[in-house]
Amino acid sequence: MEPATIILTTITIAALTSSIIIWRNLTKRIHSNQQSYSNKREQHEKILTKTEAERTELKLLLNSFDDALVITNEAGIIQVSNKAANQLCQRHTIRGKSISSTLLDHEICECITKAIKKNKPKKQKLILTSSTFGQEETIENSAWIIDYAPLPLDNDTPLHRIIIRNVSSEHRTDQVKREFVANASHELRTPLAIINGYLENLIDDNIIENPNIARKALTTMRKHSDRLAQLIEEMLIISKLESGAAAQLKNEPFQINDTISTVIDRLSPLTQKQKATIITHFDPELITFTGDAFYWEQAIYNLIENALKQNANTPIQITVDTKISETKKDNGNKKLTIKITDNGKGIPTAHLPYIFNRFYRVQKHHSQNQVRGTGLGLSIVKHAIEAHGGKIKASSTPGIETTFKITCPIKK
Ligand code: ADP
Repeated sequence: MEPATIILTTITIAALTSSIIIWRNLTKRIHSNQQSYSNKREQHEKILTKTEAERTELKLLLNSFDDALVITNEAGIIQVSNKAANQLCQRHTIRGKSISSTLLDHEICECITKAIKKNKPKKQKLILTSSTFGQEETIENSAWIIDYAPLPLDNDTPLHRIIIRNVSSEHRTDQVKREFVANASHELRTPLAIINGYLENLIDDNIIENPNIARKALTTMRKHSDRLAQLIEEMLIISKLESGAAAQLKNEPFQINDTISTVIDRLSPLTQKQKATIITHFDPELITFTGDAFYWEQAIYNLIENALKQNANTPIQITVDTKISETKKDNGNKKLTIKITDNGKGIPTAHLPYIFNRFYRVQKHHSQNQVRGTGLGLSIVKHAIEAHGGKIKASSTPGIETTFKITCPIKK
């Protein structure tokens, strides 16, 4: 081989070798680049999946709150809202919308806007007298707690966190309790004031020396002290039934027809005095009812006694029906229906919705003749029946027919 050829061949081989080495290195680098790219992609995908899982978790957590939660920016534009907040505003989502255009009540809006401006934590209770906020129809006295706090961010303008809590049912319970205390104090004070008045007369005016007048005063005092005792007794029963004692009611089997007969016997002196008649139509099936017989006797006594009391000068007719039937659910369960009907003066339609309220008495019935009572009887009846899972309804055509209908499931 010629020297020139040898040199050329050597150069070519060297060039080839170096290009192979370069190609190899390049391939290696490309390969390693590809490797690191796919590693990075994998890492990136992992981060994305993790972030997505965290977001879903966060969303689930936010949506699990019953309270509406909203996070807004400085301008009051909603950045985050949970399901309860969307529902409250009756929208699918309120993200990106302003507080003022989504919250459907101007009082709530104003409260939140003011809090955002002040930028200080604040909790406020708002009573909306008549509003559709958060409801399908206008309701009286709904109550809301607006809980605001700024969320300071290190490098950014702060965000604002608002929680809107519906406290209407707690508010109503408090209202009922306040009214009960006010009414109870008033009802207790009246007989007490009368007793005190008579005592003063007896002692200071020396009436005690005159046996006839003294006897009259003492009789009146006894009437009012009886009323006081009855009021206290009935208030205790109501508070027991309301304070969850329903769960402590006895759960014993008893014959409901026997309970009704006992009540009729207990009231027979009054029935005879008023020349009233009580007719019973008992279901032929023996009705073994499970519950607290004391409360059932009390409820039936109140209902029959009311009919007699309210018609003291009329020889009325009272009928008591008991019936067992299958429940609508068709699952073999049975229900008990008790109907107590009288043909007395009845209850005017306008008063019917209120007669189960505590201390409610139909004024017309009591202004003409002082009918004994506290206005607590029907409230006790309703509580006692509801504590057994039952319901009571009243209907009345004054002078013709007044019916109290109780329905209650029979426990197997
Ligand atoms: P009270 O202690 O006054 O009897 P209730 O709560 O038992 O209180 O009853 C409330 C009011 O409902 C009574 O004061 C009376 O005006 C009316 N009422 C209840 N039952 C009858 C009835 N059968 N007929 C006419 N009025 C009734």
